[in-house]
Amino acid sequence: MSLRADRQIAETPRLSVKSVQAYLTLVHPGTGCMGPAPVRRAGHVDAEVCVVALGAVRNVEWLADSGLAAGPRGIACDAGCRAFNMYGIVTDDVFVAGDVSRFPHPLFEYQLLSLEHWANAVAQAEVAAHNMVNPGPLRRPHLTVPTFWSSQFGLNIKSVGVPTFSDHVVIAQGSLKERRLAMVYGYRGRVTAAVTVNMAKSLDYYQHLIETAAPFPPAPGAADRPIEAEILIPSDVPDPRGLSHGPTVALTGHLPDRRLTVVRPG
Ligand SMILES: Cc1cc2nc3c(=O)[nH]c(=O)nc-3n(C[C@H](O)[C@H](O)[C@H](O)COP(=O)(O)OP(=O)(O)OC[C@H]3O[C@@H](n4cnc5c(N)ncnc54)[C@H](O)[C@@H]3O)c2cc1C
Repeated sequence: MSLRADRQIAETPRLSVKSVQAYLTLVHPGTGCMGPAPVRRAGHVDAEVCVVALGAVRNVEWLADSGLAAGPRGIACDAGCRAFNMYGIVTDDVFVAGDVSRFPHPLFEYQLLSLEHWANAVAQAEVAAHNMVNPGPLRRPHLTVPTFWSSQFGLNIKSVGVPTFSDHVVIAQGSLKERRLAMVYGYRGRVTAAVTVNMAKSLDYYQHLIETAAPFPPAPGAADRPIEAEILIPSDVPDPRGLSHGPTVALTGHLPDRRLTVVRPG
């Protein structure tokens, strides 16, 4: 397929769902779908596949002057869903949950996780609600192991753990050829995630490996373990220790308790 698309959509870093729909309706009247079609402007982009990534940037603009630790990846909070203020001090009366939160998880070295998973939003909201109405000692941490599901082109895809928190991956069961497989991800020698395609029954087993920080690659056991299970493939994701976005605050001034300024990226 030769896809012709207006330069505007390629060069605009953020489009809301409404503006994507409006764009497609404008360019492809009658169908509202992506596909080869004449465009009004002279500029175009040729592509085999168009991937539209929606929902990755959090709408935190309205919190710009709130004094909370809000940025493009969301609002940082503790494991009890209490938001941090911009000084990194935990608040006691502002709670966050779901996609907009960034929270530390002990299974993932306490790094702040930003997740876009429906199940995480539900589980974290329950913890936030519990902690809103319970005093300190009765508060609970949000420790759910992240899970995700999707159905794409007739394939059932499920994930447990955090696949991006990895340095290597192996195909532990099945194969691409069979169109059913289990991929297991590891980070520094322990299992951190698994993704199954048409093999959801195995997921509980891999969740147990993640929860117990089992060694990676996982030990042989499955009857349908392929020879490739011995081959470690670099997972090729950004090192989770690295910065993935710019700072939202900068150190300025001299007073010990008033040294931060909010930075607004251009
Ligand atoms: C295209 C797409 C496909 C997805 N597919 C899957 C999937 O297959 N499986 C899966 O597990 N997850 C999937 N997700 C992710 C899932 O939808 C989210 O993780 C989940 O909806 C998060 O719930 P939430 O309540 O945290 O946020 P949201 O569902 O985004 O709800 C936030 C709400 O707050 C509103 N809001 C924003 N700003 C303001 C404001 N200033 N004042 C008042 N209201 C405001 C928004 O309009 C929105 O209604 C998908 C997401 C997208 C975008």
